Amino acid sequence: MQFKDIEGQRVLINHLTEIIDSGRVSHAQMFLGPNASGSLALALAYAQYLNCTNRRHYAEGAELRADSCGECPNCRKYRELVHPDLHLVFPSVTTPTASSTGVSAELFQEEFRGFLGQYRQCGTEDQWYEWLNAANKQGMIRERDAANIVKTLSLKSYEGGYKVLVIWMAERMNLSAANELLKTLEEPTEKTLILLVAESRDRMLSTILSRVQTVVVPDIASGFGAEKRAAFATMFVSWMRLLFKLNMQSLSNWVDQTHALGREQQKQFLQYAQEAVRACFLKTAAGITLPGELDFGDEKFDSSFPAMVTTRNVEKMNQALTDAIYAIERNAYAKITFMQLSFTMSKLIKNR
Ligand SMILES: [Zn+2]
Repeated sequence: MQFKDIEGQRVLINHLTEIIDSGRVSHAQMFLGPNASGSLALALAYAQYLNCTNRRHYAEGAELRADSCGECPNCRKYRELVHPDLHLVFPSVTTPTASSTGVSAELFQEEFRGFLGQYRQCGTEDQWYEWLNAANKQGMIRERDAANIVKTLSLKSYEGGYKVLVIWMAERMNLSAANELLKTLEEPTEKTLILLVAESRDRMLSTILSRVQTVVVPDIASGFGAEKRAAFATMFVSWMRLLFKLNMQSLSNWVDQTHALGREQQKQFLQYAQEAVRACFLKTAAGITLPGELDFGDEKFDSSFPAMVTTRNVEKMNQALTDAIYAIERNAYAKITFMQLSFTMSKLIKNR
C-alpha cells in the first residue's frame, strides 16, 4: 500500500513520513482509529515507506510530501504482502479445518491477504468474519499466535531491513497473548517495528498501552465541517493564549465553557487540537503547509504559533491529547481532564 492510495488523512500521512525521514521511528506504535478510516492501510503504508529503498519526495505545496516508490523490490513485496520480514497477526476463529491447535498466522494467511485485497485494507472486523464464513463467531488472537510472534521476531531479518510485525485488531489479544507480546515490547530487538492496529483502547492492558506510542487516526466518516472547524479554531487560539499567561481565572472560565460542550464535542475538539499540533509541527520541522491547515482565523497567531511546536515537544503534546481523549471516552470528569491537560500543554509549550 502506498500513501497515495489512501483516502484522506493527508495531515497525518505527512506527519508520519516526516517522522521516518528524520529517523525518529519509535519501535512500538499503536494506530488507533476506525478500520474504515484506514488505520490498517496507514500502518502498512508506513511500514512500506520505512523499508522503501527509493523514497519519493514531492515539491512544496503538493498534497502529499513523500511516499514510497512502489517499484523497488521491497515495495513490490509489500504490495503483495509477501515480504519475508512483514508478519501479520489478526484474530481468527476455530473452524472444522482450523482446530484450536493451529497458529492462525499460518492457517489463515491466504484468506487474510484475500480479505485485505478485497476491502483495500479498510475492511471491518465483521467483514473479516463474514469473509471466513464465520459471521456469528467472535475471533481472538491467542497465546499460540503470540508465541509464534516472539519466535519470528527473535530470528534475523531476511533482507537486512526492518522486521515489521503488524497486529490487526490488537484489542482481540487474550490475556496470555498480550503477556507474550509484553515480553517483546520490554526487550525490543534492533530494527524491529511493532505496529498495533486497534479501534478501542479500552480492552488493551495498560502495561501494553504504556509501552507503545499512539498514533490517532482521525475518523474520516464523522469528520467535522467548515463551520465547526472555524469554531474549534477560535477555541484553540484562546486556549493556547491562556496557556502562555496561565491566568487561573481566565483558564478556569475556559475550562467551564469546554465542560459545557458535552463529551462528543469535547472529543472532537481534542481531535482538532491534535491535527492542529501536527500541522504546526510539519510547518516548523519541514516547512510544509497544507492549504487551510494553519488557518486559525487570526493572522498574528497563524504566523507565530507554529514555531511553538518542535521536535522536543510534539510527541508529548500528541500523547497528552490522546490521553485526554481516552479519559473523556471513559467518562472522566471533563473539568479535571481539561485542567490537567492545560497544565501539561502549558509546560510543554514553554519548554519547547
Ligand atoms: Zn520502494
